[in-house]
Amino acid sequence: MAIIPELSLLRKVIKTNQSVIIKEIKNEYYNLNGTRQPFCMFCSSKTNLTKEHVLPRWTFEKDTKEDFITSINGSRKTYNTTTIPACVNCNGLLLNSLEKTIIKSLSGIDLKNSFFINEELQNIIRWLEIIDYKFQVTGFTRKFIKSDQIPYSNYLSKIPLSLYRTDLDSDKKILAELRYTLKRIGIKSKLRNINSLVIFKSKNKSFHFFHSFNKFIFLELPKYNIAMLYFYDKIFNSNKEAYNEAMKLIKEVY
Ligand SMILES: [Zn+2]
Repeated sequence: MAIIPELSLLRKVIKTNQSVIIKEIKNEYYNLNGTRQPFCMFCSSKTNLTKEHVLPRWTFEKDTKEDFITSINGSRKTYNTTTIPACVNCNGLLLNSLEKTIIKSLSGIDLKNSFFINEELQNIIRWLEIIDYKFQVTGFTRKFIKSDQIPYSNYLSKIPLSLYRTDLDSDKKILAELRYTLKRIGIKSKLRNINSLVIFKSKNKSFHFFHSFNKFIFLELPKYNIAMLYFYDKIFNSNKEAYNEAMKLIKEVY
């Protein structure tokens, strides 16, 4: 399978701009005096901005009523309205090309008698890494909104959501995690992570999703009869080992 030029360009764009992106997030969104001027979260451009869906719309089949609960503060938000800023070029060309590649792989397979080749698995990993990054970014760009657990106040509404995260106890750690995530996206080969991607046949009729920053993501895509769980930060000796752990996790969370 030929290497898709847009995919390597996307990786290079992110690699080149990672420190600028972190700096801009710090300036614009992180402190309370930031002006929150949007910029492309992939190349840092401040012009020709569009809205990039954190979860691509085709995954939830454009069902605008589907929602999820943000692990940060228990608030509900629909997939459809969860976006981050990205420029026309990064969104329309680079990210779009990644999506198309994934859709092509998913539609071209029947897990009953075949499986993805390594290059396809690496592309799925690249795609899932970017989704994790996008979710982390929404922690900065989305402000606190009312939830059942924490009452709304004017003061709180100015603070980026990510500061409510309880799994990372300091500001520095949240930024460090974002930096780490960008670095990971910059790594060209995903071969050592292939065992960490568990893909199996699913007959479930509805879309399901769960995600934990930097830990794992689960996607169930009824249109393709496929479910997948990926461990972002774990290396396994075999895919079987990852599969067993995935099944345990699904039982716990699902
Ligand atoms: Zn861009």
